[in-house]
Amino acid sequence: MAKVYKHLETRLIHAGEPDPPIEGAVSMPIFQSSTFEYSGATSYHDLKYIRLNNTPNHVALHQKLAALENAEAALVTASGMAVISTTLLTLLSSGDHVLAQDCLYGGTHDLITKDLPTLGISYDFIDADNPDSWEHQLHPNTKAIYVETMTNPLLQVGDLKTVVEFANARGLVSVIDNTFASPVNFRPPEWGFDLSLHSCTKYLNGHSDIVAGAVIGCTDLIEKITHKLNHLGGSLDPHACFLLHRGLKTLAVRVKYQNESTIKIALFLEKHPAVKKVNYPGLESHPRYQRACELFDGFSGMLSFELKGGVKAAERFIQNTTIPFVAPSLGGVESLITRPVTTSHSGMSPEDRKKLGISESLIRVSVGIEATEDIIEDFDQALKA
Ligand SMILES: *Cc1c(COP(=O)(O)O)cnc(C)c1O
Repeated sequence: MAKVYKHLETRLIHAGEPDPPIEGAVSMPIFQSSTFEYSGATSYHDLKYIRLNNTPNHVALHQKLAALENAEAALVTASGMAVISTTLLTLLSSGDHVLAQDCLYGGTHDLITKDLPTLGISYDFIDADNPDSWEHQLHPNTKAIYVETMTNPLLQVGDLKTVVEFANARGLVSVIDNTFASPVNFRPPEWGFDLSLHSCTKYLNGHSDIVAGAVIGCTDLIEKITHKLNHLGGSLDPHACFLLHRGLKTLAVRVKYQNESTIKIALFLEKHPAVKKVNYPGLESHPRYQRACELFDGFSGMLSFELKGGVKAAERFIQNTTIPFVAPSLGGVESLITRPVTTSHSGMSPEDRKKLGISESLIRVSVGIEATEDIIEDFDQALKA
């Protein structure tokens, strides 16, 4: 009987796996071989070679990732930035223009503002919450629109449905960085996005032990991006493929738990007298709560908040917590805490941060899979200290 895996939880385990299993192995073996015997390939891209992204470890991952977001194809890369740079360099050439959301992941922001202009590619930033303003920023040479599912570190949710409509009506390729949501909470191809990008370093791998990236979309675009990656060389090595493959299997149990834990922590913080404001799309106080409910199956394990005591209180709080690691990155099994102005947004000018609403005292938490009660108790004692 043909195998049909209806739900994401089942696909995480079974989709893309070799059938029949290789030598009966229930876990995908690592093919630690750079090259493979020639078997009649007529195109350079079909020679089996690690850099050409087509070893058995790559193929299994590509099929599994495509299945997770109900798309045709996928490609894994050596990091999140490798997938973002390779995708943008596939879609844009000298003379082209891109519309990008104004509050992007720092590395993406720098790539667009510093590197793309040296190649003759221009950009404008858009407020993803204000579609009426986009038309003015459109140029005859605009080729793509680039947004993120939830912004870092304020967890804003743009008008994603209108992004797709706008892109379709004007012939732009719509690209979304879906790292923060993961396919458990949001599947961009189901909403019409052309390309969904992930830093697999975060939720998809989930164990803070590799860097990796992925792009998911239609066969035609993924093939073009693959050929570009074959030239640029940012391929994922087989051992990292194996770790990502293994990490993916627990994605649903991890992320569902993180969703549940984080709403409880957000509610605890929101009620605490020392807390000024909590940013979490699962809170009714979030300005786009209704939109988040319509789009997402869960609200992620990411939240940020401000204390009434400002920077000093924020530093004291972070120092007094005992469970989270004070470290950048996110999406792993361990909780991480940072002040974004000292880490992810330290490269941004104070004026730009102010414009975006990222204050000096803002604290960001990536909630892990520890007991919710333990985290709340830890935060409670750190707030009192
Ligand atoms: C971490 C991250 C990236 C970059 O990924 P790397 O794997 O570190 O290269 C891109 N986008 C978002 C939203 C991220 O959180």
